[in-house]
Amino acid sequence: MMSTSVAYFSAEFGIDGSLPIYSGGLGILAGDHIKAANELGLPLVGVGLFYQKGYFKQRIREDGVQEHLYPELDPGKLPLERVADASGNPLIIQVPVASRSVYLKAWCLRVGQVPIYLLHSNTEQNDEHDRRLTDNLYPGDPNVRIIQEIILGIGGVRLLHALGIRPDVWHLNEGHSAFLTLERIREYSASGVSFETAKEAVKASTVFTTHTPVPAGHDKFSISMIDHYFGDYYWQLGADRDTVIELGRQGEEFNMTRLAMNTSSRVNGVSKLHEKVTKALFHRWTPHIPEQDIPVESVTNGVHIGTWISPDLKAMLSDYLQPDWERQASDPAVWTPVREIPAGRLWREHQKIKGEMIRRLGFTDMRYPQESLLIGFARRFATYKRALLIFQDLDRLDRIVNDPERPVCFVFAGKAHPADFPGQQLIRRIVELSNTERFKGRIRVMENYDMDSAKWLVQGVDVWLNTPVKPMEASGTSGQKAAMNGVLNLSVLDGWWNEGYNGRNGWAIEGEMAGSSEHQASVDSGKLYRLLEEEIVPLYYHRDEQGLPSGWVNRMKESICTLAPRFNTGRMVSDYWSKIYVPTIERGRRFAANNFEIAGRVSAYKAFIREQWKHVRVNKPNAYSTQGTRIGFTETFFQVLVDLGPIWEKDVRVEVVGSDGNGGIWKVRLKAAEKLDNGLYRFEGSCCDKHDAFLHSNANIRVVPISSEFTNDFEMELSAWGE
Ligand SMILES: *Cc1c(COP(=O)(O)O)cnc(C)c1O
Repeated sequence: MMSTSVAYFSAEFGIDGSLPIYSGGLGILAGDHIKAANELGLPLVGVGLFYQKGYFKQRIREDGVQEHLYPELDPGKLPLERVADASGNPLIIQVPVASRSVYLKAWCLRVGQVPIYLLHSNTEQNDEHDRRLTDNLYPGDPNVRIIQEIILGIGGVRLLHALGIRPDVWHLNEGHSAFLTLERIREYSASGVSFETAKEAVKASTVFTTHTPVPAGHDKFSISMIDHYFGDYYWQLGADRDTVIELGRQGEEFNMTRLAMNTSSRVNGVSKLHEKVTKALFHRWTPHIPEQDIPVESVTNGVHIGTWISPDLKAMLSDYLQPDWERQASDPAVWTPVREIPAGRLWREHQKIKGEMIRRLGFTDMRYPQESLLIGFARRFATYKRALLIFQDLDRLDRIVNDPERPVCFVFAGKAHPADFPGQQLIRRIVELSNTERFKGRIRVMENYDMDSAKWLVQGVDVWLNTPVKPMEASGTSGQKAAMNGVLNLSVLDGWWNEGYNGRNGWAIEGEMAGSSEHQASVDSGKLYRLLEEEIVPLYYHRDEQGLPSGWVNRMKESICTLAPRFNTGRMVSDYWSKIYVPTIERGRRFAANNFEIAGRVSAYKAFIREQWKHVRVNKPNAYSTQGTRIGFTETFFQVLVDLGPIWEKDVRVEVVGSDGNGGIWKVRLKAAEKLDNGLYRFEGSCCDKHDAFLHSNANIRVVPISSEFTNDFEMELSAWGE
């Protein structure tokens, strides 16, 4: 048996509708990740929390007020096994919370070969208060929240180790679980390893996926809360309080994203655009590192085909695709035969699924939902998702939905977090509008959006609408679910859609990030109405000689063929495996080998560099050009004197860095050409035609410490620039 190599930590897991321990996209993504890891046979374990009352069940009153129901889950009725210790007794884990202990039991949910361990505090060793700590997902009280994160992070490490599981890679799915890195440092420290060495060993084996471009979405605690909860814990890490706080300090707060970054060797965003946005966000925290150099990469999200494609559509696809198509789904060639499916067959299949959805979700009270173009908008009611965008111009919307020849219906669904009052206001407003004479039966709000209803919606509507403020949607995944069902996306070019849209597989609202939010909304809604009026509605109702909407069906095929192979979790988890996990497994093992030899060397090297960096000085550079042999070819030479103090010239990278005026940067690496004096070097280099760029742009010389043991040149966040 292969030993476990990856521990995947997440505050939520959306595995199945019957287990409501997820709130939205993050949890669904985690669940889909686990399912794909199982199918790929990867050695992974999940770690999360069991929330006895789950995420709330939503009721929407007639007047649009959202009500929150918290039915208690009975673990005995769920496919959960109680986790036992080596001698068969129920395992109990203990975590430090302020100056007391909280006790935890654990349930195991098996997703094929992959176990997910879910901790919770409802056990008799705890008092009444502590037994309720893990009742709810994302509690509003910051004290309960930090305790849940201690349970997840610290408790999670203790649980795995109690079970004899020693992961090679620790994956933080969002920053909620980042305290696990402190616990791992504590363990190493307890076995006699110094704090700095332990930190390097932990960092080498930790990877972090960040999920939100919204600064307010990053988890933060006050420093005094950290002191309160970790006051008795700091010293166990082998460091003083300030050193520990520094790992997560961002301004006056302790920021879980910052902690995760500082203790991970790889950080990734969840779409290419999100990578850029995250770089910009982190650049604000380390302004001396140009945005383009911030060490963040991306793995674009995907969704699990087995979960999200309609069973009926799957059966039909099996008539045309190769027998093992689900397992080969990341190969675009596998999907090519979709183009051969007779238009009538695909259209009738979709109509059948649509009809089934209308019955199951109770939309039969709408006005001709089956015969109308039916548009779905379902997502968390966070304000940046702009659920009201389509309501900017009510008269225009009225004309669109009530066109007697070509009617259009809308379905809205989604929860607002119980503490998110502006989000709840949105629901109220849409309910009000849906009750007005002109929109009644045409616009419908459905309550309690969850995995089960999401499945029906992404399979059964005709168009999937998404109108976030660009670039706030890190990826989004519901549109991916729709796309592989042949449901056409109509979305702002944000997140994954910015990568997926090709001009033929759906429609793009090309958000131009400019102006006030009101102006933006009016521009974007104008585009949205125009697309509906001029392209989408006419295409939907157009019939060819056979009475089929063949233009529409071609788009459905294009959507399935071009998007399903790229935005599925098989592709995503394979990417994580080959690009992130495998190199990190190797790295983590190397750092820990021979009693942490490399981790010790790296920490000593960093300490030396940090101490000596104050001596590094960059003098004013020279740049001069010579005409080359070919006409118009100019070579630019750069020369600069750099004083490195006691730092060796091979331990730095010296380069010219300039802006290309287009949001990009250019760099020219310089080499040490001569040692002039103690620590003083002349660095030189050349490149094509950068003379003017050097003189006229804000180009400068930069020195950064490097090491072959770093995953990137900015690991130390140190750099020295020319005056
Ligand atoms: C897929 C899914 C989400 C995430 O969708 P977004 O596109 O990120 O809004 C949220 N909730 C449920 C129930 C889902 O199935």
